[in-house]
Amino acid sequence: MGFSLVHGLEVTSSYGKILLDFAICPIVRREPMNYPGLPDGLEVEILRKEVPGFHYNKYRDGYLLTEDFQGADVIYKGRPERKSENLFRYTDDSAVMGSVYVYWVTTSLNERPLGPVHVRVVDNDIIWAHEKTTGECRRIASLYDGVILESHGLSVRGNEMISLKKGNMENAVIIIGGVHAAEAGQFTALDVFERFCALNDGLLFENVGLAVMPSANPDEADRMAKGHTYYLRKNAAGVDLNRNFPSDWEVVDEMYGLNTADPTSLTYRGPVPVSEPESKAIIKFIESTVPRAVFSLHCYPGGITFDQFFGPGAAKDDAAYVKECTELAHSYTEGFRKGEYPGQLFLSFGTTPGSLPLWIYRTFNVPSFDMEAWEWFVRNHPMALQACEFKADIEMMQDIAVRHFDGIMKYIEEVLLI
Ligand SMILES: [Zn+2]
Repeated sequence: MGFSLVHGLEVTSSYGKILLDFAICPIVRREPMNYPGLPDGLEVEILRKEVPGFHYNKYRDGYLLTEDFQGADVIYKGRPERKSENLFRYTDDSAVMGSVYVYWVTTSLNERPLGPVHVRVVDNDIIWAHEKTTGECRRIASLYDGVILESHGLSVRGNEMISLKKGNMENAVIIIGGVHAAEAGQFTALDVFERFCALNDGLLFENVGLAVMPSANPDEADRMAKGHTYYLRKNAAGVDLNRNFPSDWEVVDEMYGLNTADPTSLTYRGPVPVSEPESKAIIKFIESTVPRAVFSLHCYPGGITFDQFFGPGAAKDDAAYVKECTELAHSYTEGFRKGEYPGQLFLSFGTTPGSLPLWIYRTFNVPSFDMEAWEWFVRNHPMALQACEFKADIEMMQDIAVRHFDGIMKYIEEVLLI
């Protein structure tokens, strides 16, 4: 059996750097308050392997745990910074943005390396930690007149469920980001919201309002931002929030071949309807307005989602509702595509029992969609391929956000205010 002096190895991505935190326990056990630090002469070795072609949404937990340290590069040998008592930190600033790595830590005593731990190098200007999301909300609220910042409760791990509102909340367009943690959210929702505020159009704000909850699943979004390598969809309690709403919740669904009644499933609906604090907060947020249309951003990491409107499945035979959604989608798409990407309107009705769009439809009878990216875009567009590799850049994110903003404004001008 191998032994290790290294314990408790944790890995985090932060603004393009990788932080490795670990304990070195001395051979002779000491009183907890009397750790001597790194024993004299002992050096720490950090081993690293890149995992090329790792796709966050194709592989599942455990995939990277079979990586072997044989053949790994020794990227550091020395005496790292001591954080406290017997805790040490090594910062790897040679990691490449978007790449996935596995690490091991050992010492010059040549014991068995501890690891692997795995991490994705994340660009935190694109994929935001919760601290950044709340900071941006506060910045926007203090910068523009009449912006209301509200909290609608706490997530499973105690993060604030924040929203921003501007304009007439009796006639509100709603954007919700990141119901699925690894999908579009914070960046797009807040960029669109800020563009709306910047219009500085008193008459418009008297007539219509925009309300956004940029991060509806903040705990797991935060984990994604810190370099979690796999696709995170559910909340921290293991519930798919987009199956937890109180409309047809009791109907078991098997979309993607996954069973919503199975707690181990990626689409688990939860033990009871609205069991999750995040679902409660989303409902409280929407009920604090009179919604006219609700857009829930899905699809890709950061903010890469397109003008594909995925409405409630149960509404597909409701002619009046379908007509209203079609009008909305036509205007939005016209604004979104700016004459590019000619072709069909991507509007369909298929969201499942317990989904947010279905609850909106049943409760308010207004257009409500999961916003997705159409098939051609997913397979061919460089933006989609880059987003999947976590290599989206600010220009790309802003391009998408401007399209959504123009889509929403076109809908407001051509449909909502007529
Ligand atoms: Zn989704």
